[in-house]
Amino acid sequence: MKLALILIAVLVGIWLFKTGRRVDPPDDKSRGPAPGHGPGGTGKPAPNLALEMVRCQHCDLHLPKAESIEGQRGVYCSEAHRKQAER
Ligand SMILES: [Zn+2]
Repeated sequence: MKLALILIAVLVGIWLFKTGRRVDPPDDKSRGPAPGHGPGGTGKPAPNLALEMVRCQHCDLHLPKAESIEGQRGVYCSEAHRKQAER
C-alpha cells in the first residue's frame, strides 16, 4: 500500500514538472527582449572565463576553463582523467 502511494506521489511530481516546463517557454518569450541567441546576451558575467586556462590535475595539460571538467579535487581535461584521479 505504501508503494502505491509513493508511485502516485512520483507520478504527480513528474506531471507537475512537465506542466511547469510547458508553461515556461511563453513566459521566456515575453521577458526576453534580446533577439540574438548568444550566450549571455545582456549581462556578460565574465568575458575572460572562456580564456582562463586551468591545469588538469591528472596529466598537467593546460586547457581553457570552459572546456575543463570540474571534479572534487580540481579540474581535469576529460571525464576519464577525473575518474582516474578521484577513484
Ligand atoms: Zn588530463
